[in-house]
Amino acid sequence: MTLLHGGTLVDGSGAHPTPGDLLFDGDTILALGPCDAPADALRLDCTGLFIAPGFIDLHSHSDLQVLERHRAKTDQGVTTEVVGNCGFSAYPCGAHPHEVQEFANGILFGYGRDWAWPNAQQYLADAAAQADLVNVHSLVGHGTLRVATMGPSQAPATPAELDRMEQSLAECLSGGAAGFSTGLMYAPGSAAPTEELEALCRVTARAGKVYATHMRSYGDDLLNSLDEQLALARATGCRLQISHLQAVGRRNWHKQAQALEKLAAARHEGIDVAFDSYPYLAGSTVLTQLLPAWALDGGAPALLARLADPALCSRIKATMIEQTPQQWSDIFITAVGSPTSERLVGHDLASIGETLGEHPVDAALHLLRVESANVNILAFNQSDDNLRHLLTHPLCTVISDGFYVKGRPHPRLYGTFPFLLGEIVRERRWMPLEQAIHKITAQPAARFAMPRQGLLAPGYYADLTVFDPTAIAGRATYEAPETAPAGIRHCFRRGRRTV
Ligand SMILES: [Zn+2]
Repeated sequence: MTLLHGGTLVDGSGAHPTPGDLLFDGDTILALGPCDAPADALRLDCTGLFIAPGFIDLHSHSDLQVLERHRAKTDQGVTTEVVGNCGFSAYPCGAHPHEVQEFANGILFGYGRDWAWPNAQQYLADAAAQADLVNVHSLVGHGTLRVATMGPSQAPATPAELDRMEQSLAECLSGGAAGFSTGLMYAPGSAAPTEELEALCRVTARAGKVYATHMRSYGDDLLNSLDEQLALARATGCRLQISHLQAVGRRNWHKQAQALEKLAAARHEGIDVAFDSYPYLAGSTVLTQLLPAWALDGGAPALLARLADPALCSRIKATMIEQTPQQWSDIFITAVGSPTSERLVGHDLASIGETLGEHPVDAALHLLRVESANVNILAFNQSDDNLRHLLTHPLCTVISDGFYVKGRPHPRLYGTFPFLLGEIVRERRWMPLEQAIHKITAQPAARFAMPRQGLLAPGYYADLTVFDPTAIAGRATYEAPETAPAGIRHCFRRGRRTV
């Protein structure tokens, strides 16, 4: 039995913090308020500290890191992660395990051996056995499902292939997967016509689970992309989660307000839609995401063959110039596949182009050639004003969207939750602390129907994070991202201490 005494309880519901103790035994909260505990109970003095439910990262790419007990999230007070986002999951591997690995490894970095989980049960069994720092919920990634079924092809699925995808998705959902995700800006998910998505959303709706989507566009085509997703939810009845909502690029910033209006109208109409956002102005992804989808058909080897053809290169370049909503000086290299180009990490495409005497796009394509298409980027996408509107919106849960790269990962991987409570709440005062805590506890728990989670209440799991509200801070920066946060004092997952 453990007594956290003399602290302030911020219970996840959004209610005002109140002074109190918390008593738990095994994995369950027993009592709140002024508590008596037996003499042999472990007592932790929480004077000056806040006691909250363990934080839930509803949008994570730590599918493999959780198995390695990576501490990046745990040190932020996170006790639960929802992995398998943006179409990338570590299962099912179907008949194409190597192609699935090649597809997913750009995002699911960091596992020191081959992996090839055939289905959700086996992945979740390994997670239950090995991932003892966090509770793991996992979405079935559409990109993975597609590659597992038909290889990295961008052809439309045949009726037989679509049948197999539906069946495999249904099996994964009944085997414990929390839902379905798409990554419609990434090949080959981008090749899927709306009808394919509709069939798979129907399977998801039948299972009563969540459909989370990285939409086709967050830039020039943001509003049409959102319409497509709302139509899917309307047609199938699936519960829709718009992943990392934002309007990318200055020329699109004004569209965010319209997107939020569309969401409000959809809710009014009865569509079960919500969204999530990370609390930073920059996003991070792979450099190939800036290329037209046709250039990526067939995976990296096919792309490299195209990049060796000057005529195809100039077509790729023209499309990138037309369709990239960010400025080249806003896009930074964060990781490369080999030591050859390591000196470019931390530099932006405009200045790399200038140094080489080339157009920024030529420099980017050259880099892809040299690094066998293995390049990660960070891009400043957002305005401060838009970010504030997103984070404070009642439909928004706050997420990390963090993923590991060898180089300079986005600081959100190491800092999101303390950054939210330190910088966004305490320093900028964008919202009250209890509202921010709600967005990373009860709200995501309700979205994914996680039983006994997200609140401080008797009978709920003892997933607990204790922090110093005056010291909490996400200290990770773009320059030094792998920096641990400050102010997390204790963390318990299912009653077992992790910090
Ligand atoms: Zn995404």
